Amino acid sequence: MIVKTDIRALSLEQISSRLTDLGEPRFRARQVHDWLWQKGVHDFAQMSNLPLSLRQKLDEHFAVNNGRIAREQHSVDGTIKNAVALHDGNVVESVLIPTDTRITACVSSQVGCSLDCSFCATARLSRVRNLNADEIFDQVVTIREQARLHFGRPLTHIVFMGMGEPLLNYPQVMGAIDRITAADGLAMAPWRITLSTAGIPKMIRKLADDRKRIRLAVSLHSAIPEKRTRLMSVNAACPLPELQSALQYWYRQTGSKVTFEYVVWAGVNDTDDDIRALLAFTARIPSKVNLIQYNAIDQGPYQQAGVDAVEAYRIRLLNAGVAVSIRRSRGSDIDAACGQLAGSLSGEVEATAAPTAVAVEANVSLNLKTL
Ligand code: SAH
Repeated sequence: MIVKTDIRALSLEQISSRLTDLGEPRFRARQVHDWLWQKGVHDFAQMSNLPLSLRQKLDEHFAVNNGRIAREQHSVDGTIKNAVALHDGNVVESVLIPTDTRITACVSSQVGCSLDCSFCATARLSRVRNLNADEIFDQVVTIREQARLHFGRPLTHIVFMGMGEPLLNYPQVMGAIDRITAADGLAMAPWRITLSTAGIPKMIRKLADDRKRIRLAVSLHSAIPEKRTRLMSVNAACPLPELQSALQYWYRQTGSKVTFEYVVWAGVNDTDDDIRALLAFTARIPSKVNLIQYNAIDQGPYQQAGVDAVEAYRIRLLNAGVAVSIRRSRGSDIDAACGQLAGSLSGEVEATAAPTAVAVEANVSLNLKTL
C-alpha cells in the first residue's frame, strides 16, 4: 500500500517535483495548489480543470487531512461556534462573531493549551498537539463560507483567540497566516489579523523581526508581578519587565500599537494599586487597553467586577491618554465566549483518515523550557 502524503504539508515547488516524478507537466502543480489554498477544496474529485486520470493519481498518492464540523451552534446574538473534528479524532473550536460592521473568525492554534491560566476553560485541557497550518487555514475557510451563507457578508477579521497559545506553535501559525494573506491564497490583508498571546517575550521579538504586518494583542490581566503569576503561571518564566521590553521592541520594529486584554475581577485586581500598576506598565508602550468581560467557566473563585470598578479603570486610562474600550461578551449562551472553549466533544468522535506521511513529524513543538 502506498503511504499517502499530506499534500498540504508540501510547498508549491514540492508538489511540482512530485507531479513531475509522476509524469505530469509542471503547470499542473499550480492548478492543484490553487484548488487547495485559494478555493479551499478538500477533494481531488472536485478539481474540475484537471484530467480525470490526474485526479485519480492524486487520490492514490496524496491525502488532504481536513477536519469536519462535528457540531455547529448558533447563539441568540448571531455568534456561531463550530466544533471541528480533526482527521485524527481530536476536536478544536472556532467561532464566528458578527457585528454591524465586521465578521470576525476566532480560531484555535492548538488542541488544548500549553499554558494554565487559572481563569480559562481551555487551560483545563493539557496541550495535546499543535495544529498544522492547513488545520488553522480550514477554520478560516469554514467561517468565511458561514459568513456568506448566514449573513451575506464577507469575513473581515481573524483573531487567534481560540484554544491554544499561538506563539508556542509559531511555524504552523505563520504558515497559516501566509496562506491566508497570500495573493494566491485567501488574499486577506494582514492588518485584519490579530494574534493574541499570553506574552512570550522571545517569540514577540521574533514576530516583530518577521514583519508579518499583523496586529498583536497581549493578555495582561494584572501588571503586578505576583498577582499576574497567580493568574497566569507563564508570568514566572516570562516576567513583566521582559514582556515590557519585548513590546517596546515590537513597536520600534513595526510601528503597530499593542492591545492589552484585561479582565477586572471582583476582589482580585479591582483596587487603586492595580490601576496604578497598569498605568505604569502601559506608559512605556504605545498601546490601547481592551477591558473584556469575564465569562464564568465554573463555580471557581473568579467573578466579574461591577460596573463601577470597570469604569474606574476606563476613566483613569483615558485621563492618562491611553485608548480604552470595553468589550462585551458574545456567544456566552453557547459557551463560545473567550475562555469558554474547551472542545467538549472530545472523545465522542473518531479519526476519519489513516495517518499520512510528512504531516505531524514536521510539526515541532516549542515549549517554554526550550525557548
Ligand atoms: N493564548 C492566547 C489566546 C487564547 S485566550 C492568549 O492568552 O492571549 C484569548 C483571550 O481570552 C485571552 O485574552 C484570555 O486571557 C481571555 N480569556 C481566557 N479565559 C477567559 C474567561 N473565562 N473570560 C474572559 N476572557 C478569558
